[in-house]
Amino acid sequence: MKVDICRLCLEKRQLVDGHLMSRGLYDLCKTPDDDPIFVSNKVIMQSGRQLKHALLCEECDGILSREGESWVLPLLAKVDGTFPLFDLLQTVAPDVTAGDLRGYAASRAREIDVPKPTHFAAGIFWKASIHSWRGGETTPLIELGKYRESLRVFLRSETPFPEKMALIVGVVPPPVKTINFCYPYRGSASDHHNYLFHIPGIEFALLVGNTVPAGQKANCFASHPLHPIIVSAGISEAIKGVVRGVTKKAHRAKNVMRYLDRGRN
Ligand SMILES: [Zn+2]
Repeated sequence: MKVDICRLCLEKRQLVDGHLMSRGLYDLCKTPDDDPIFVSNKVIMQSGRQLKHALLCEECDGILSREGESWVLPLLAKVDGTFPLFDLLQTVAPDVTAGDLRGYAASRAREIDVPKPTHFAAGIFWKASIHSWRGGETTPLIELGKYRESLRVFLRSETPFPEKMALIVGVVPPPVKTINFCYPYRGSASDHHNYLFHIPGIEFALLVGNTVPAGQKANCFASHPLHPIIVSAGISEAIKGVVRGVTKKAHRAKNVMRYLDRGRN
């Protein structure tokens, strides 16, 4: 057992081995034991299941599990075609529809425990920002710079969700064809930093920095009172669109978000 400074509580503690993505995700995705390869826009991961690092103490590892992972993982899309989180969303009517895009206010879906997906996504982005998670590499998987600390204190429940960030959440309606996940990677928006990852049925985007437009804060699942979720079969394109604003679907997605926001007034 390694004794070192825990990266979350900053105390000198005995550290436990942990994955970047939860162990449960590997089981859910049934990737072959010896050769899981996860492709993002730049990085190809090999043997991800074996990639564990001792960064957190047991208590902090427990916080990430209790406050996010253990709520989110049972609700993800599965190979049998079920998708419990989508079913929870269906308990309320969409606030906006535009083409195949629908915008939901998770604040109205009582069984959606909004802090849990927020903590889960924040935890994965933060872990990606404190370690390389790639053999032979030393630079963190994503670079959050001075904003990294605001995620750490948020994960410790010391502060609200960081002001200089927006978390966009998208959901794919079932049946979800690709039951897989990818590690966080940097998106291509040029005017602010954005990072993305997906897990079965859900895509998360984190916008970071002083230049995150106010409009994007209105789309923020974590801090906007409606806790908007966008649903689309082409969620990946839609989310990238919300982030970048370039494609047709992007414009529809932006409109969905805008109307959703307006609906609250
Ligand atoms: Zn700790």
